[in-house]
Amino acid sequence: MDWKTRTNENLPNTKTRYYVYENWKENGRKARIHYSICPYCKEGKGIHNTSSEVNGCWRGPFYKSFDAEKFAQDGGFKVRKCKHCDPV
Ligand SMILES: [Zn+2]
Repeated sequence: MDWKTRTNENLPNTKTRYYVYENWKENGRKARIHYSICPYCKEGKGIHNTSSEVNGCWRGPFYKSFDAEKFAQDGGFKVRKCKHCDPV
């Protein structure tokens, strides 16, 4: 069994991935959690189709929303969830 198979086995649902968008420009440090399939996220590429935007950046993928939330909180961000894709 190769490492990839082993990793996938440990995941609850390999289709569900989460990304965190860290925003540096808004008041304070805010982060928003998205599903990877969200049109605002697009697997971490965002609406501008780049992973290196001037306003912030994408982190991920995460395989649990809890992990994404904790990552952002540890980074000192106030965490919200995307209203569009509403990740759970
Ligand atoms: Zn979203």
